[in-house]
Amino acid sequence: MPLERPLTLVTVPCLQDNYAFLLHDESSGETALVDAPEAAPIQAELDRRGWSLGTILITHHHDDHVQAVAALRGGARVIGAAADAHRLPPLDQAVRPGETITVCGEPVEILDAPGHTVGHIAFHFPRSALLFSADSLMALGCGRLFEGTAAQMWGTMQRFRALPPNTTVCSGHEYTMGNARFALSIDPGNQALQTRAEQLRQARERGEPTVPSKLSDEIATNPFLRADDPVLKSAMGMPDAPDAEVFGAIRSAKDNFR
Ligand code: ZN
Ligand code: FE
Repeated sequence: MPLERPLTLVTVPCLQDNYAFLLHDESSGETALVDAPEAAPIQAELDRRGWSLGTILITHHHDDHVQAVAALRGGARVIGAAADAHRLPPLDQAVRPGETITVCGEPVEILDAPGHTVGHIAFHFPRSALLFSADSLMALGCGRLFEGTAAQMWGTMQRFRALPPNTTVCSGHEYTMGNARFALSIDPGNQALQTRAEQLRQARERGEPTVPSKLSDEIATNPFLRADDPVLKSAMGMPDAPDAEVFGAIRSAKDNFR
């Protein structure tokens, strides 16, 4: 048996605050891109490393995640949600939650991730322990509810929370410091959150991205993964409310937080 090596993961800052991700399998030479906010920085990274795209994975239909697909696709196969095929760039492969596909020689589970949009999907690479969650689960936050309900996004959070804690969470934006300020405002007694917020502040000071993050850290510090925690429920003044309602209240509070 050849030794299984984890995929190489490269985070590519795009536009104002977006992240795209490149994945590369050394043994086959296959390269995949997750989301396509902007062609130039992604192409520059490909050129620098001598990689060419074999696959483009799309999480959801928003322009800041798909607008560079046309410029970058070349001969790559483009994979996105069947449910959103009508509003995504032309797909070579339309996938549904629950399916497993193969990318860069690894199995990839298509996870349903509604809330931010109803057709949002996430890509889980169990072998390399990677989750591409884009604008659903984010570092210390979650995406706004543009289309889905709080109950749907809470379901998405619970689905992710059940993944192995060592999973690397690759989300779509550098929103982490704003998320940290909000998290501290409703969960000030959380020691793990205080420690993490300080580490993140220092990382930003050095100009480093705060994405990706570890799922175990998100579980300990991200209020959107902890809407069923009695401490947070009490902090929201909703000790006896259903978890999804508490989640909705946390999301609304974040929408109005300055
Ligand atoms: Zn979005
Ligand atoms: Fe986005």
